[in-house]
Amino acid sequence: FMMLTKQLIEVRNILKTVNQNCSALQLPSIVVIGSQSSGKSSVLEAIVGHEFLPKGNNMVTRRPIELTLVHTPNAEEEYGEFPEIGMKNITDFNHIQKTLSELNMSVSESECISTDPIELKIFSPNVPDLTLIDLPGYIQVINRKQPPILKRKIVELCDKYIVEPNIILAISSADVDLANSEALTHSRKVDPYGQRTIGVITKMDLVEPEKGVDLLINNEYPLELGYVGMVCKPPGKSGFSRQLSLTQKSDEYFRKNPIFHQPDVQVGLSSLKKRLTTILEENMGQNLYGIVDAVQTELEEVRYQYKVQYNDRHITAESYTADIMDTLKHQFKEFSNSFGKAEVREEIQNMLEEKIMDICKELYYNDSKVVAFPSLCLKDLIWKSKVDQSSALLTKSGIGRTTTQLVVDIVLDELREITSKEPFTYHESSCNKIIDFSSKLLKKKFHTTVDQVENTIKPLKFEVECTDLEWERGKERAISLVDRHIQESQKKLQEIRSQVGRRKLRTAIKYIRHQNQRKLHQFDDSLEGVEDETQILKKEISKPRQYNPILIEKAKEAMGLRKEIAVLKGRAAALRSRQCSSTSGKSCCPEAFLNVISQKLANSAVMFIQIELLNEFMFQFPREVDNKLYYDLSREEVNNFACENPTIRRHIELQKRKDALELVMDKLVYLVRRQNELIRRKELK
Ligand code: GDP
Repeated sequence: FMMLTKQLIEVRNILKTVNQNCSALQLPSIVVIGSQSSGKSSVLEAIVGHEFLPKGNNMVTRRPIELTLVHTPNAEEEYGEFPEIGMKNITDFNHIQKTLSELNMSVSESECISTDPIELKIFSPNVPDLTLIDLPGYIQVINRKQPPILKRKIVELCDKYIVEPNIILAISSADVDLANSEALTHSRKVDPYGQRTIGVITKMDLVEPEKGVDLLINNEYPLELGYVGMVCKPPGKSGFSRQLSLTQKSDEYFRKNPIFHQPDVQVGLSSLKKRLTTILEENMGQNLYGIVDAVQTELEEVRYQYKVQYNDRHITAESYTADIMDTLKHQFKEFSNSFGKAEVREEIQNMLEEKIMDICKELYYNDSKVVAFPSLCLKDLIWKSKVDQSSALLTKSGIGRTTTQLVVDIVLDELREITSKEPFTYHESSCNKIIDFSSKLLKKKFHTTVDQVENTIKPLKFEVECTDLEWERGKERAISLVDRHIQESQKKLQEIRSQVGRRKLRTAIKYIRHQNQRKLHQFDDSLEGVEDETQILKKEISKPRQYNPILIEKAKEAMGLRKEIAVLKGRAAALRSRQCSSTSGKSCCPEAFLNVISQKLANSAVMFIQIELLNEFMFQFPREVDNKLYYDLSREEVNNFACENPTIRRHIELQKRKDALELVMDKLVYLVRRQNELIRRKELK
């Protein structure tokens, strides 16, 4: 039978990870209950043979302790482990005690009790195979520091554990009337006949031996599984510091008095150990076939789910993570293939063209003489100086920084785009990591790139030579640039028109014109020529509510756009005229000339951005992905990463359940076979 219990305890621990709430899948363990100071800790420590439980008055047990004792017949060392926190091979029991204290104290005083159990395994040749659950002691008197709900919380916690199929170890002190024993009161509620309750009477040394025997013989509160008497701390001795003689010490008291040597009276540590193992074995044995059935049913269900939902596809956190990395690298590769020299150049040139338009607006289009331009331009020296000024504005605008920044922004935007889609959406913090290390990689190369670009464009700041072919291309681009702006402005104007309404807009514009004129005519008395309009508008002005400030704003905007379109159309015509047909017209055709410059700037910039920044980044990125998102992570982190995706989490969980149940089933099949064999052998004898 020994073998059976050991294996079933293992099975129980595996099942616990699989299904905490399904009672059919539970194997019994021994639950220890008793009032505070009833001697509960002393009994447990006697069984283990070591002092290892936290001591003190201030509610030292705040969480259940699930204690698995593993009998290791041939081992010399005794040691403990806390599987949950990964602490193994602790041979110093003071260390176990300290750890238990800390784990208990992690529950704050205000919470007072946590239902989350501490798992502790103890391996020793001196312990039987048992699973014991130590619970906080029932309290009778609440001291001032303890919150009043504490008492109720402890009862609730114990109630949770004393359910079937668990065995109850009910501890009562011999010097307290059994009628007042909290342990018996609570166990009787769930097990009135004591079919799964063993009584332990502690501190037998504190009552007369006759009275002690009376308690054990079990007339007052009969339990089918009976009572065992214990003396754990003989008077005058403190603690169990000398562990070797532990059993002797605790049993000495009974050995000396023949009154305890009756067949019905069970006393001492060895009796208790024997009793506990027998009862647990019997119970587990009885449960064996039931549990086999339950596991079988559960396993079939899980296998079915696994087939239907995942088509029996095996997945691991590692394989999922590797897939994600591959997807990311693949998408990045696609991007880097589509973002070559030509594309980078085009992006830079587009940006520079917008700059050209800004410069032209500032230097030319706001100049009223621009209307007479270009016929005026050839004769006027001003235009010559203007073209130098505008080219300087372009070449000295910090091209190195703006172009490099532009490319950096494009790359980062692309990465944001990639990571904003499934499956990356589940992995927010990893996506942040990607952006983060990418920014860092790009930043590292940023300044050298900026400097290199600035260095190579330096000559262009002083002189720009231009071939006919370059001029032709610059002009073409300038024309389409101006045309594009015309279209954009027209579109905006159209939008305002449809927003406000043509007529309303027209009158509002007239109104503004009139206002402007009035301002002019305040210095000029002659109002002739505009009388008509004035008459109409006077009426309008008498209804000021019609002109709300938003309408006026829109009207002003429309007027601006109209003017802009007119100027741009003039420019488009000029660029198409003969005057702009060759380099000699450069001062009359600044858009074309600036475009020639921008092409040269873009060519130089793209070269260094490509070499210094992009090539390096494209090479490093996939390596960083592997390092930062995979190799640098612990197993647990990889697991957490995969489980961020709910679909994968469910998949892995179901798979784990299936694996655990299969393992359990294997063990159970083996045990059943052994059990049957044992029975057959017994029958043969
Ligand atoms: P718990 O609060 O129920 O865990 O009780 P403890 O095991 O800490 O014991 C409470 C007190 O009773 C301690 O002071 C122990 O020394 C004492 N005690 C425990 N067992 C015995 C015993 O068999 N005989 C005597 N005289 N005192 C005991």
